[in-house]
Amino acid sequence: MPDSGSHLEYLRASRAETCRRCALHRNRNKVVFGDGNPDADIVLVGEAPGREENTEGIPFIGKAGKVLDGLLRRVGLIRALDGPIYICNTVKCWPGHGNPDPLREQIVACSPFLRMQLRIVRPKVIVTLGRVAGASLTGHALDESVGYLRNHDWMFEDPVSGLSVPLVATYHPSYILRNLTDDPKTAKEAALKVQADLERASRIAFP
Ligand code: SF4
Repeated sequence: MPDSGSHLEYLRASRAETCRRCALHRNRNKVVFGDGNPDADIVLVGEAPGREENTEGIPFIGKAGKVLDGLLRRVGLIRALDGPIYICNTVKCWPGHGNPDPLREQIVACSPFLRMQLRIVRPKVIVTLGRVAGASLTGHALDESVGYLRNHDWMFEDPVSGLSVPLVATYHPSYILRNLTDDPKTAKEAALKVQADLERASRIAFP
């Protein structure tokens, strides 16, 4: 039985890197599979890689990633190989210029990778960042609002592995970023909500 890190790396290198299951493979410079501790207690799931992530092959390294890193630090969570977090996206390839939402069929095509990641890491809690990740992992329509999702308690159930994990839905850091200039009040409120949601997830992982 391979350790979690080797198992994840095998999936990335031998499956995801050459995957052509959906049209997003045409945008791929590097597959953006995941980052962090393969045995983490908290898995963060975002939407899709951006342009910088597509170049480097690492999730959440652009401006939104920096916002997220700052919020994580505020609640004592650090991204590191031996840290409490593993981070990945709903789809592993860049949706292209303008970062459009991934389509339902692209999310479905990519979902085996996300499910395998969750089965391998087996976190104590999942945090979804944004509408796409939250809606797809809780079984809602993709236009369901984050405001609705974050006000409910969810469980992620995987009948194949028996995995049953609390899920906390919150805003994507790019939502904070988008509002910083035009609507700083909304940006600040959203940042406080994400911080509160990360604290809630942390309390679930480390009671
Ligand atoms: Fe494959 Fe996922 Fe990339 Fe689509 S987004 S090509 S399913 S790895």
